[in-house]
Amino acid sequence: MSANMSANPSDLRVGFVGLGIMGQAMAGHLLAAGHPLRIYNRTRAKGDALVERGALWCDTPAEVAASSDVVITMVGFPSDVEQVWLGAEGILKTAQQAVLIDMSTSSPALAQRLAAEALTRGCVALDAPVSGGDVGARDAKLSIMVGGDEAAFNRVLPVLQLMGSNIAHAGAAGAGQHTKMCNQVVIASTIMGVSEGLAYAKSAGLDPERVLQTIGSGAAGSFQLNVLGARIVKGDFAPGFFIEHFLKDLGIALSEAERMGLKLPGAALARQLYEQLATRGLSRQGTQALYCHYVQE
Ligand code: NAP
Repeated sequence: MSANMSANPSDLRVGFVGLGIMGQAMAGHLLAAGHPLRIYNRTRAKGDALVERGALWCDTPAEVAASSDVVITMVGFPSDVEQVWLGAEGILKTAQQAVLIDMSTSSPALAQRLAAEALTRGCVALDAPVSGGDVGARDAKLSIMVGGDEAAFNRVLPVLQLMGSNIAHAGAAGAGQHTKMCNQVVIASTIMGVSEGLAYAKSAGLDPERVLQTIGSGAAGSFQLNVLGARIVKGDFAPGFFIEHFLKDLGIALSEAERMGLKLPGAALARQLYEQLATRGLSRQGTQALYCHYVQE
């Protein structure tokens, strides 16, 4: 492992690939803590604000990894993860003695494959997906669930702590992604409940805002109800969390469940409803747009 790993945290060279809704905010916290930061994103303009604050733009993921002790990726789909890790210009082409952390929500099997590939190149890979949404990323209050080598986890914990407030080692490679799938299965049925409850409030002629204020501090309170329910009440369906990403997650969770012989009727129904919204052209809306399945705005 790089000697730099144990030096002053601000000497640790960090690379960040994927500067969307989540990655841009997360990378900003690393920069604010004083880490030298190399960045890359498919659409260059999304790196401009970080470059203005002192980050160094690189033209490929490989260029990011060539001079980084820790490389974080936060891209969209498993195919994107494969590209930025294993592609011709991917981070595994150049990384040396680094800890490579995929924080995207991706498949447990891919996480295990990346961990094995990283080892052959003298690096360690961790899967470290997050929960807490755009708000959690902005406020550095993400929950981070980490799979992979525990010693490497302990070494990069100070970096993860700059982005999250609840960080747990979940087990071997892939265990972080499996934990995230538990999270997504819970959310699937919860967001259906939130949408149905608020559709009921509207049909009953109640003031949805007052309903939210009342039940949000009771037993139904949750991020889904309190944050996304509030967006529904305002008619704000902008992403937060893209429907297309949630469909990706439900696909992973349901195929893992099938492999394990487990039936998940709630998650399966949520996928069906979101697929219907996607065919209506809403896949780049936030997941709270599930409400539109019940109520035509
Ligand atoms: P996003 O806004 O779409 O960000 C993904 C970023 O990755 C985009 O900027 C995209 O580039 C970049 N990217 C994708 N493929 C790339 C490639 N091959 N090379 C370089 N850059 C690439 O999505 P997000 O909401 O930040 O989510 C990121 C990940 O976190 C997803 O896996 C998602 O499921 C997960 N997640 C999201 C939330 C949430 O609330 N948003 C919460 C927890 C977990 P472009 O700018 O060109 O599109």
